[in-house]
Amino acid sequence: MERKIEEFIKAYMKSDKNTLKVFDKPAFGEPAMGISHGDDELYGFYKQHIDPQFYKLPVEWLEETYGHPFDAKNVSVISWVLPQTDDTKRLNREQTDCSTMEWQMNRVYGEECNRGLAKALEEYFKEMGYEAVAPMCSEKFSWGDSDRFYLISNWSERHTAMISGLGTFGLCDGLISVKGKAMRCGSVIVNCRLKKTTRPYSKYNEYCKAGDGCTACIRRCPAGAITPEGHDKEKCVQYHKEVIAKICHDRYGYDGYSTCGLCQTGVPCESRIP
Ligand code: SF4
Ligand code: SF4
Repeated sequence: MERKIEEFIKAYMKSDKNTLKVFDKPAFGEPAMGISHGDDELYGFYKQHIDPQFYKLPVEWLEETYGHPFDAKNVSVISWVLPQTDDTKRLNREQTDCSTMEWQMNRVYGEECNRGLAKALEEYFKEMGYEAVAPMCSEKFSWGDSDRFYLISNWSERHTAMISGLGTFGLCDGLISVKGKAMRCGSVIVNCRLKKTTRPYSKYNEYCKAGDGCTACIRRCPAGAITPEGHDKEKCVQYHKEVIAKICHDRYGYDGYSTCGLCQTGVPCESRIP
């Protein structure tokens, strides 16, 4: 069953859905998959840590979607990482104030592909008679303000990938995954017990080399939003609103959703675990 799910994800990413659309280029390289269990204690830990009133456990997503109780022991979460292509990363490494148009389009059409994969996998499980939900595509997905973290969501793809054995956090809050930090991730929750992926780490930031003196993402950030203490989300968001949007308009003639992401390329954790 686990192999079939992985084949499904790989086949989807080999299809014509994997495209930047306005460029004749794929949005992502080869994906990686991890699986965790609904009763993994880390889900409870992050719920308490992020916001116990707001953040939902995997079993709560199923219960609120289907309107009846589920046993967390019989729930699995399939998580995946979709790495940026070598071409997108190479172009972005040269940028110093704003990411390339390819990177911007990845945030729009790459994310469309990521969400399409989530919906397709949810349907795949439903056709086999399971109950499944892709939180990122659910009408119950939402963002909220947080005194502690500035901005939070009621489901985090990066925390899910971390719990599912795919990587650990970096100084800049990005997830240093088995495919590196320049990636997007997604997940689907289903009511069956699959074989979980072993977490080859015990600390939430084990792969990050900040403790060994790495300052690459600090130097890469044009907003001064990363320091040895971590990532200042408010500063980062302000830079997006005040600078990135203007550069995208002036340089690319693009006024849609725009993003920075410079700390994800040109750093030792860009494409691998450093
Ligand atoms: S660039 Fe260095 S300090 Fe920053 S997240 Fe990567 S490994 Fe950690
Ligand atoms: S996304 Fe851009 S502004 Fe935000 S921390 Fe990374 S480099 Fe800095």
